[in-house]
Amino acid sequence: MKKLGIVLCAGVAVWLTGCAELHPLNTITQSSTIDALLAGAYDGTLSCGELETHGDTGIGTFDRLDGEMILLDGVMYQVRADGSVCRPGRELRTPFAAVCWFAPDATYTFDRRVSDAELKGILDEHMPNQNLFYAIRITGRFARVHTRSVPAQAKPYPPLAKVTATQPEFNATNVVGTVVGFRCPPFVKGINVPGYHLHFLSAAGDFGGHLLDFDLVAGQAQIDICDKFNLMLPAGADALASLDLSKDRSEELKQVEE
Ligand code: ZN
Repeated sequence: MKKLGIVLCAGVAVWLTGCAELHPLNTITQSSTIDALLAGAYDGTLSCGELETHGDTGIGTFDRLDGEMILLDGVMYQVRADGSVCRPGRELRTPFAAVCWFAPDATYTFDRRVSDAELKGILDEHMPNQNLFYAIRITGRFARVHTRSVPAQAKPYPPLAKVTATQPEFNATNVVGTVVGFRCPPFVKGINVPGYHLHFLSAAGDFGGHLLDFDLVAGQAQIDICDKFNLMLPAGADALASLDLSKDRSEELKQVEE
């Protein structure tokens, strides 16, 4: 009986080790770079199915820039330019996305109304290390949520700043849902978005997008400190081959994010 116990324990240990390798924690996996997206590299290169093997939480966009991606608890959502929300197929490809296996290191409760600027200021106090990545989830009731999406593009693809200059924007009031995204370090400039990049999905699954601003009534914010970054470049496709990614696109990024 004792021997069986040891064998079982060893079996569980092997299984747990296997899971840890399959789901590496504190690791952000990203497909392509933000500057490639700014430059108009909208052809999807990584399938959503493959992306989901690298995390259960994250944000991004889809092939031809067809909407905003929200990956939450392993379920992927696509918020399209008409404001509708659908579940994309696993074969649909993404030109840019970042995901992680979300395992919160800390949870903070908000029991009073806070604006997005105030909430980010409070989170900043809890995330004092500017040089680490943080995955963020904020679930609660929101007095107001203002989002945008982007419409699918046709070739020749215009730069992203041109697309978002006429972006469809959406507003919801008194909505329950989840903010999901990342706060990245300043040194990721060119690769990801320095600072906050957040998306939103309502609990009803009928509203969301790239988050522009919001007011939280009450809820919980969870943060996951990530100290590892896995960048996947589309080597097989010629997606990046003809792009000049040497120029500073900080100003374009600022236009696109707001
Ligand atoms: Zn976004």
